[in-house]
Amino acid sequence: MGKIADKYFKLDPWAIVEEGFDPAHGKVAESIFSLGNEYMGVRGYFEEGYSGPQLVGSYFNGFYEGQDVFNPAVYKGFILKDNNLTNSVDWLHVRISLDGELLDIAKSKVSNFGRKLDLKTGTLTRQFVWHTKSGKDLRVTFERFTSLVSNNLGCQKVSFEPLNFSGDIQIVSGLDFSIHAEGLPSSNWTCIRQEQKGDLFSILGQTKISKLYLFSSFRIESDEAIRHTTVQNDLRLGTEFTLALKQGKSTSFRKLAVNFAGKKGMTDPEVVWQKGLALAQKHKTVKYAEAHKEHASFWGNVWKNFDITIDGDPENQQGIRYCIFQLHQTYHGGDPTLNVGAKGLTGEAYGGKAFWDTEAYCLAFYIFNNPAAAKDLLKYRYNSLPQAIERAKSLDCKGACYPIATIDGNENCGLWQHASLQIHVSGSVAFGISQYANITKDKAFLYNEGIEMLIEISRFYASRAQQDPVTNAYGYYGVMGVDEFHMMVNNNCFVNYLAKKSMEYALSVIREMKAADPRKLKEVSEKTSLKESEMGEWEQICGNMQLPQDKETGVYEEHDGYFRWPHIDIHSIPVTDFPLYHNWSYDRIYRTDMIKQPDVLMMTFLYSQDFDLNVKKANYEYYEPKCIHESSLSPSVHSILASELGKHDEAQNFFGFATRLDLDDYNRNACEGLHLTSIAAAWMNIVFGFGGMRTDGDILTFNPSIPKTWKSFSFKMLYLGSALNISVDKDKAQFKSEGKDLSLKIYGKVYTVGKEGISIEIPEFFVAKQNGLN
Ligand code: BGC
Repeated sequence: MGKIADKYFKLDPWAIVEEGFDPAHGKVAESIFSLGNEYMGVRGYFEEGYSGPQLVGSYFNGFYEGQDVFNPAVYKGFILKDNNLTNSVDWLHVRISLDGELLDIAKSKVSNFGRKLDLKTGTLTRQFVWHTKSGKDLRVTFERFTSLVSNNLGCQKVSFEPLNFSGDIQIVSGLDFSIHAEGLPSSNWTCIRQEQKGDLFSILGQTKISKLYLFSSFRIESDEAIRHTTVQNDLRLGTEFTLALKQGKSTSFRKLAVNFAGKKGMTDPEVVWQKGLALAQKHKTVKYAEAHKEHASFWGNVWKNFDITIDGDPENQQGIRYCIFQLHQTYHGGDPTLNVGAKGLTGEAYGGKAFWDTEAYCLAFYIFNNPAAAKDLLKYRYNSLPQAIERAKSLDCKGACYPIATIDGNENCGLWQHASLQIHVSGSVAFGISQYANITKDKAFLYNEGIEMLIEISRFYASRAQQDPVTNAYGYYGVMGVDEFHMMVNNNCFVNYLAKKSMEYALSVIREMKAADPRKLKEVSEKTSLKESEMGEWEQICGNMQLPQDKETGVYEEHDGYFRWPHIDIHSIPVTDFPLYHNWSYDRIYRTDMIKQPDVLMMTFLYSQDFDLNVKKANYEYYEPKCIHESSLSPSVHSILASELGKHDEAQNFFGFATRLDLDDYNRNACEGLHLTSIAAAWMNIVFGFGGMRTDGDILTFNPSIPKTWKSFSFKMLYLGSALNISVDKDKAQFKSEGKDLSLKIYGKVYTVGKEGISIEIPEFFVAKQNGLN
């Protein structure tokens, strides 16, 4: 695949470490050192100001600015207004002067630069010695965290240790709304209110187009009393003060910022201001050290319960912990108006939007790490059901069509006109509901929100389906499947299958409710005006859905005519042509059998139990050589399938950069933000790939195998309220429940796994030295 690691950070099992600062890696490091807590996120920028290239990025989940969409032609169903995550307030803003010299690493002389993200405590520290023009040497240390316990709270500590002098240092600390998105000349904010009361500084900003309000406030905590002088301009409010430093002694000040993002619908600035102030008051007595302790203990629990260990591979050990860290900090539930953007809160690429990635790639992580968060992600879809219904209408369909890209529940895909063709998101939501309900057994959710969504999704697929005039079989015409290199195709196999499975699942839940909870079913049927005749129609469509397959080989045809696209040997494409979107003319990408990412293969992965191993093998071997992995979501799915097929070397090769995609900047675009949803795919790669877990059967299934170069690996997860520990070495797989007895299918046999645990010899097929199915 021609991807080459750019090794910049040091190896450490529990931290990401940068030793010395290379400006050429500045923006990559900013992304890597991003902190967040689901509510807000900040890139790892130099908060003291830096005149070199940097993206001072501070984001609030689901908080956006509007923008007109330019399409060469506009048809019904195309979106005209786009909403994108907006860069907002720099609450870490600080300026430091000594003897009239302003600290700026691009210009100042500094030595011993080091930066460390401590994964155990979720804390970012940076330090260096500043050698001023006046001959003073000062050790400066920055520490920050975004509280995982109080989502509105962001904390910063700045410490100074004079090495060869005693004297005063001047500080300006504040809230700055002048930062802006990359590529924009200026800020999209207007500040409409600023206030200082006692030690609390508060400001209210409003976005120019979407007219959303953001409240931000801070107070400073210090060892000695400080005299504040307020400094302000149109977009900034802060305090200027002096600290008296003593040689050899460390002096610090701590900033506690409380932010409140007034989401859509909060149109009254006074309401946002008052809510923000109330939160600031609530945090009035919080001390930095206490807040840090609580935050660190959150992470302590994460690692105690959900760590993954890899013995014999320090790079992937660090990589997977980084992935786990980023997933927990990007989303941990509690607010069903938030989702997981493709780049999380670490950059502006993809506009902070959530895709089908959430259900197809991320949900499993949350189901097994934090089921309440998984439920909240599905509730997000439930809350945006009205918009999905509107979207279906705008596409002249019924039911609910979930958007391919969204930050506010509406279709926000302003990238291209093909959004209307990408109808696999509703099916992914249905898949997510089934996966969640199957694993958690949460019938309350399934019989309330779940079934309502399933009914509307089925309606959509029923109204969008059309019949082949010759065979009368049903299918979808004019779609673009997951493989975005073939648009406006007919009968994309995965889309047809996803629609069929969604409707079948809706029907099965309805049948189940008829027996288990008829009263609830009646209520839901009335609410959705569900008719018997509709269900009959769904049954008919499902029973007669086209799934083109070469009966001899078992290979499913990705879409009508796929087998007859001109072939291109993907290895003949020079590495310098990638990414193709940048280097090939638009239409050239779409004229061959080359595929962007797994499409048919995604079907054999998500609905694993429906396909036998020989069919999976035939499809894998047919499609794998045609896939260029232009999406970073892609290699992990290949790795997972390769493990299942006993192609262990291939599985390890595809896994290659999964956990370190951003740490080693394989795609050379980590500077734009982290590939959050691919990070979730890396977790899946270990648990579904080497752990061989599958969730779509009647029972949770595992078929562990271990890469040749690993000595052992282990993972932990929450299953039916019990902690399940799985460890795999060269010979055996061990399973242990820390709670109740769990029924699991391991290598095809059902076991009861309890506190005493079980140890099973790894069958020959799953041992890496062997080549599996041939
Ligand atoms: C992929 C999509 C994905 C999106 C966001 C695209 O490049 O093709 O499948 O949803 O990125 O991650």
